[in-house]
Amino acid sequence: MLKDNLASVEQRVAEACKRAGRSRDEVTLIAVSKTKPVEMLSEVYDAGVRDFGENKPQEIREKYPQLPEDIRWHMIGHLQRNKIKYIIDKVCMIHSVDSVRLAQAIDEAAGKIGIVMPVLVEVNVAGEESKSGIRPEEAENFVREISVFPNIHVEGLMTIAPFTENPEENRPYFRNLCKLCVDIKEKNIDNVNMCSLSMGMTGDFEIAIEEGATMVRVGTGIFGERYYPHAEADGRL
Ligand SMILES: *Cc1c(COP(=O)(O)O)cnc(C)c1O
Repeated sequence: MLKDNLASVEQRVAEACKRAGRSRDEVTLIAVSKTKPVEMLSEVYDAGVRDFGENKPQEIREKYPQLPEDIRWHMIGHLQRNKIKYIIDKVCMIHSVDSVRLAQAIDEAAGKIGIVMPVLVEVNVAGEESKSGIRPEEAENFVREISVFPNIHVEGLMTIAPFTENPEENRPYFRNLCKLCVDIKEKNIDNVNMCSLSMGMTGDFEIAIEEGATMVRVGTGIFGERYYPHAEADGRL
């Protein structure tokens, strides 16, 4: 059943790439496995997925030793500085850098274990009060500010677009984020390489791909609905 979900998402990714005149290998499909048991992740792994996204450090820490080592774990959720130590040696990228203090703390943790951590800057494209992220007009300065940390490497931008029934409504946000990424790239800031654009979720990933996403984060479309004892546990509520 998960195999069928995955195949259908994969087909939609491929078709969106085709519509946009892009090659399929320009887009990484990240399976967002938060709240789901390792058995389900295994099933998706066996179907060929190697990129998994989680939004809670504790959950990565628990799942990590139970699953194959060649999984690329993506930290996609709001990250508290005191939790960095749980994931710094486990994730391939942190998508959700939204403060200088957080960037600095990641830098320190990465330095301690002798790695350089790839990071994305989270941008609040629609100015939603409830969401974290840098305001678009502040993004360039923010990138400059955190580019001085030697043990992180800024690789692009990430956003969580508004929840909407009609994904077309998010197209302008995706387009603007892509433009912002290109604008910052053209500034050729030292230690910065703006080549990744993490945008698009189950409801809107095809539009995001058409507008330039290089990573889409799909949870529900692959794993099915999430159930929470407390609704506010979901980052997007
Ligand atoms: C949960 C989550 C997703 C996946 O959401 P779906 O709508 O289930 O695809 C993507 N990105 C982030 C940051 C998330 O927290």
